[in-house]
Amino acid sequence: MRDINFLTENNAKPIWHPMAHPAEMRASPPKIIMKGEGVSVTDAEGRTVLDAVGGLWNVNLGYSCDPIKKAMAAQLDALPYYSGFRGTSTGPSIELAYELTEWFAPEGMVRAFFTSGGSDSVETALRVARQYWKIRGQGDRTKFLALKKGYHGTHFGGASVNGNANFRRNYEPLLPGVFHTPAPMTYRNPFDETDPAKLAKLCARAIEEEIAFQGADTIAAFIMEPVLGAGGVIVPHESFMPMVRAICDRDDILLIADEVVTGFGRTGAWSGSRLSGTRPDFMTIAKAITSGYFPLGATLISAKVADVFEADKTSFGSIGHGYTYSGHPVGCAAGLAALAETRRLAVDQNAAARGVELGKALEALKAKHQLVGDVRYQGLMAALELVSDRAAKKPVDKKTMATVADAAYGAGVMLRVSGNNIILSPPLVISAADVAKIAEGLDVGL
Ligand code: PLP
Repeated sequence: MRDINFLTENNAKPIWHPMAHPAEMRASPPKIIMKGEGVSVTDAEGRTVLDAVGGLWNVNLGYSCDPIKKAMAAQLDALPYYSGFRGTSTGPSIELAYELTEWFAPEGMVRAFFTSGGSDSVETALRVARQYWKIRGQGDRTKFLALKKGYHGTHFGGASVNGNANFRRNYEPLLPGVFHTPAPMTYRNPFDETDPAKLAKLCARAIEEEIAFQGADTIAAFIMEPVLGAGGVIVPHESFMPMVRAICDRDDILLIADEVVTGFGRTGAWSGSRLSGTRPDFMTIAKAITSGYFPLGATLISAKVADVFEADKTSFGSIGHGYTYSGHPVGCAAGLAALAETRRLAVDQNAAARGVELGKALEALKAKHQLVGDVRYQGLMAALELVSDRAAKKPVDKKTMATVADAAYGAGVMLRVSGNNIILSPPLVISAADVAKIAEGLDVGL
């Protein structure tokens, strides 16, 4: 690799960074991360900080997971790539599909379709949902329903179901026939309802009303994150997802659980769906499937959907969809090793225990700092919403957010800023001492 001066000089020139304004990046270049070890990363200036972002919600096992590195190296030696398109397959992809469907058996998942990441997984679920209705002779069912504040990646389908204008406006027109209903967020909602159970009911009723207005027989699927991540860690009441399931069942609408963030223990349960005992029709997964060591994702398919495709006698059943890297053998080898470590270390239990400690620390920070309007958390995903005026819930400006994150970085903790939220999603292998360090970093920043 070229030297640090070269990297610094070119940091924001030939590269456009995702989710950033190119001019802003030039004025204030991103940190160059050079090394990762355990749950920490080191930048080009040699500063080592605890990674409270976990890469991007994905490095659940930290940066020193030798079994994943070894499995990838062995697979690179044996077979660095072969296609998973009709006609050929590879050992790791077959094995990983088997393990995933066994793993997510409580959610009723029986088939896996491999992708290169979360946006691909969402796109796959949306497309297969439409195809499902064509096979069933109900081709009018083309619409999708989603939650405001939901995040589902950046492909055109995913952007269309996204519930945040920032990811939509510049790319419109998006897919027609997508409709959004309020998210069950106690801090900000159109009903001014602060009781989580009552709010869940109101939001469920809004879905019913939208379905009645659109006509159930025009709707293909409802998509939701069991805990909304990028929208600011919105944790619905435990009754919400089961209510959505019941509404979908009554009107024969497919339910897509977008578990790109919530899968693999992040919420303190193996999946966000399992947290509320819900069985979706599709689960989209990615990120921690390889703990971030390789770009891989999958769309998991329930028996209800798989049976229709597998019994199909029409011309609609063949899947005209897939990616060059669907089932990449090195990615699937990484996935198998990550899954084995995820299970062996029972990271769901650590996420639950550390999550309780983190939650307590966040409540204490809210009590201490006027700047904190709301704190939201579930397992090891958390957000602090910063406001300049608690009564008016006025979001703080960009500069304040950057000041908080920079000060925390100076105190040895990497945070992520998203709008006026500080987002936390540390590796699931953190210790109680790491939680205390994150809290200290936040305290300094605030
Ligand atoms: N779905 C959810 C819930 C996500 O949080 C994300 C990314 O953060 C995606 C989909 C898109 O995943 P990717 O960035 O891997 O395409």
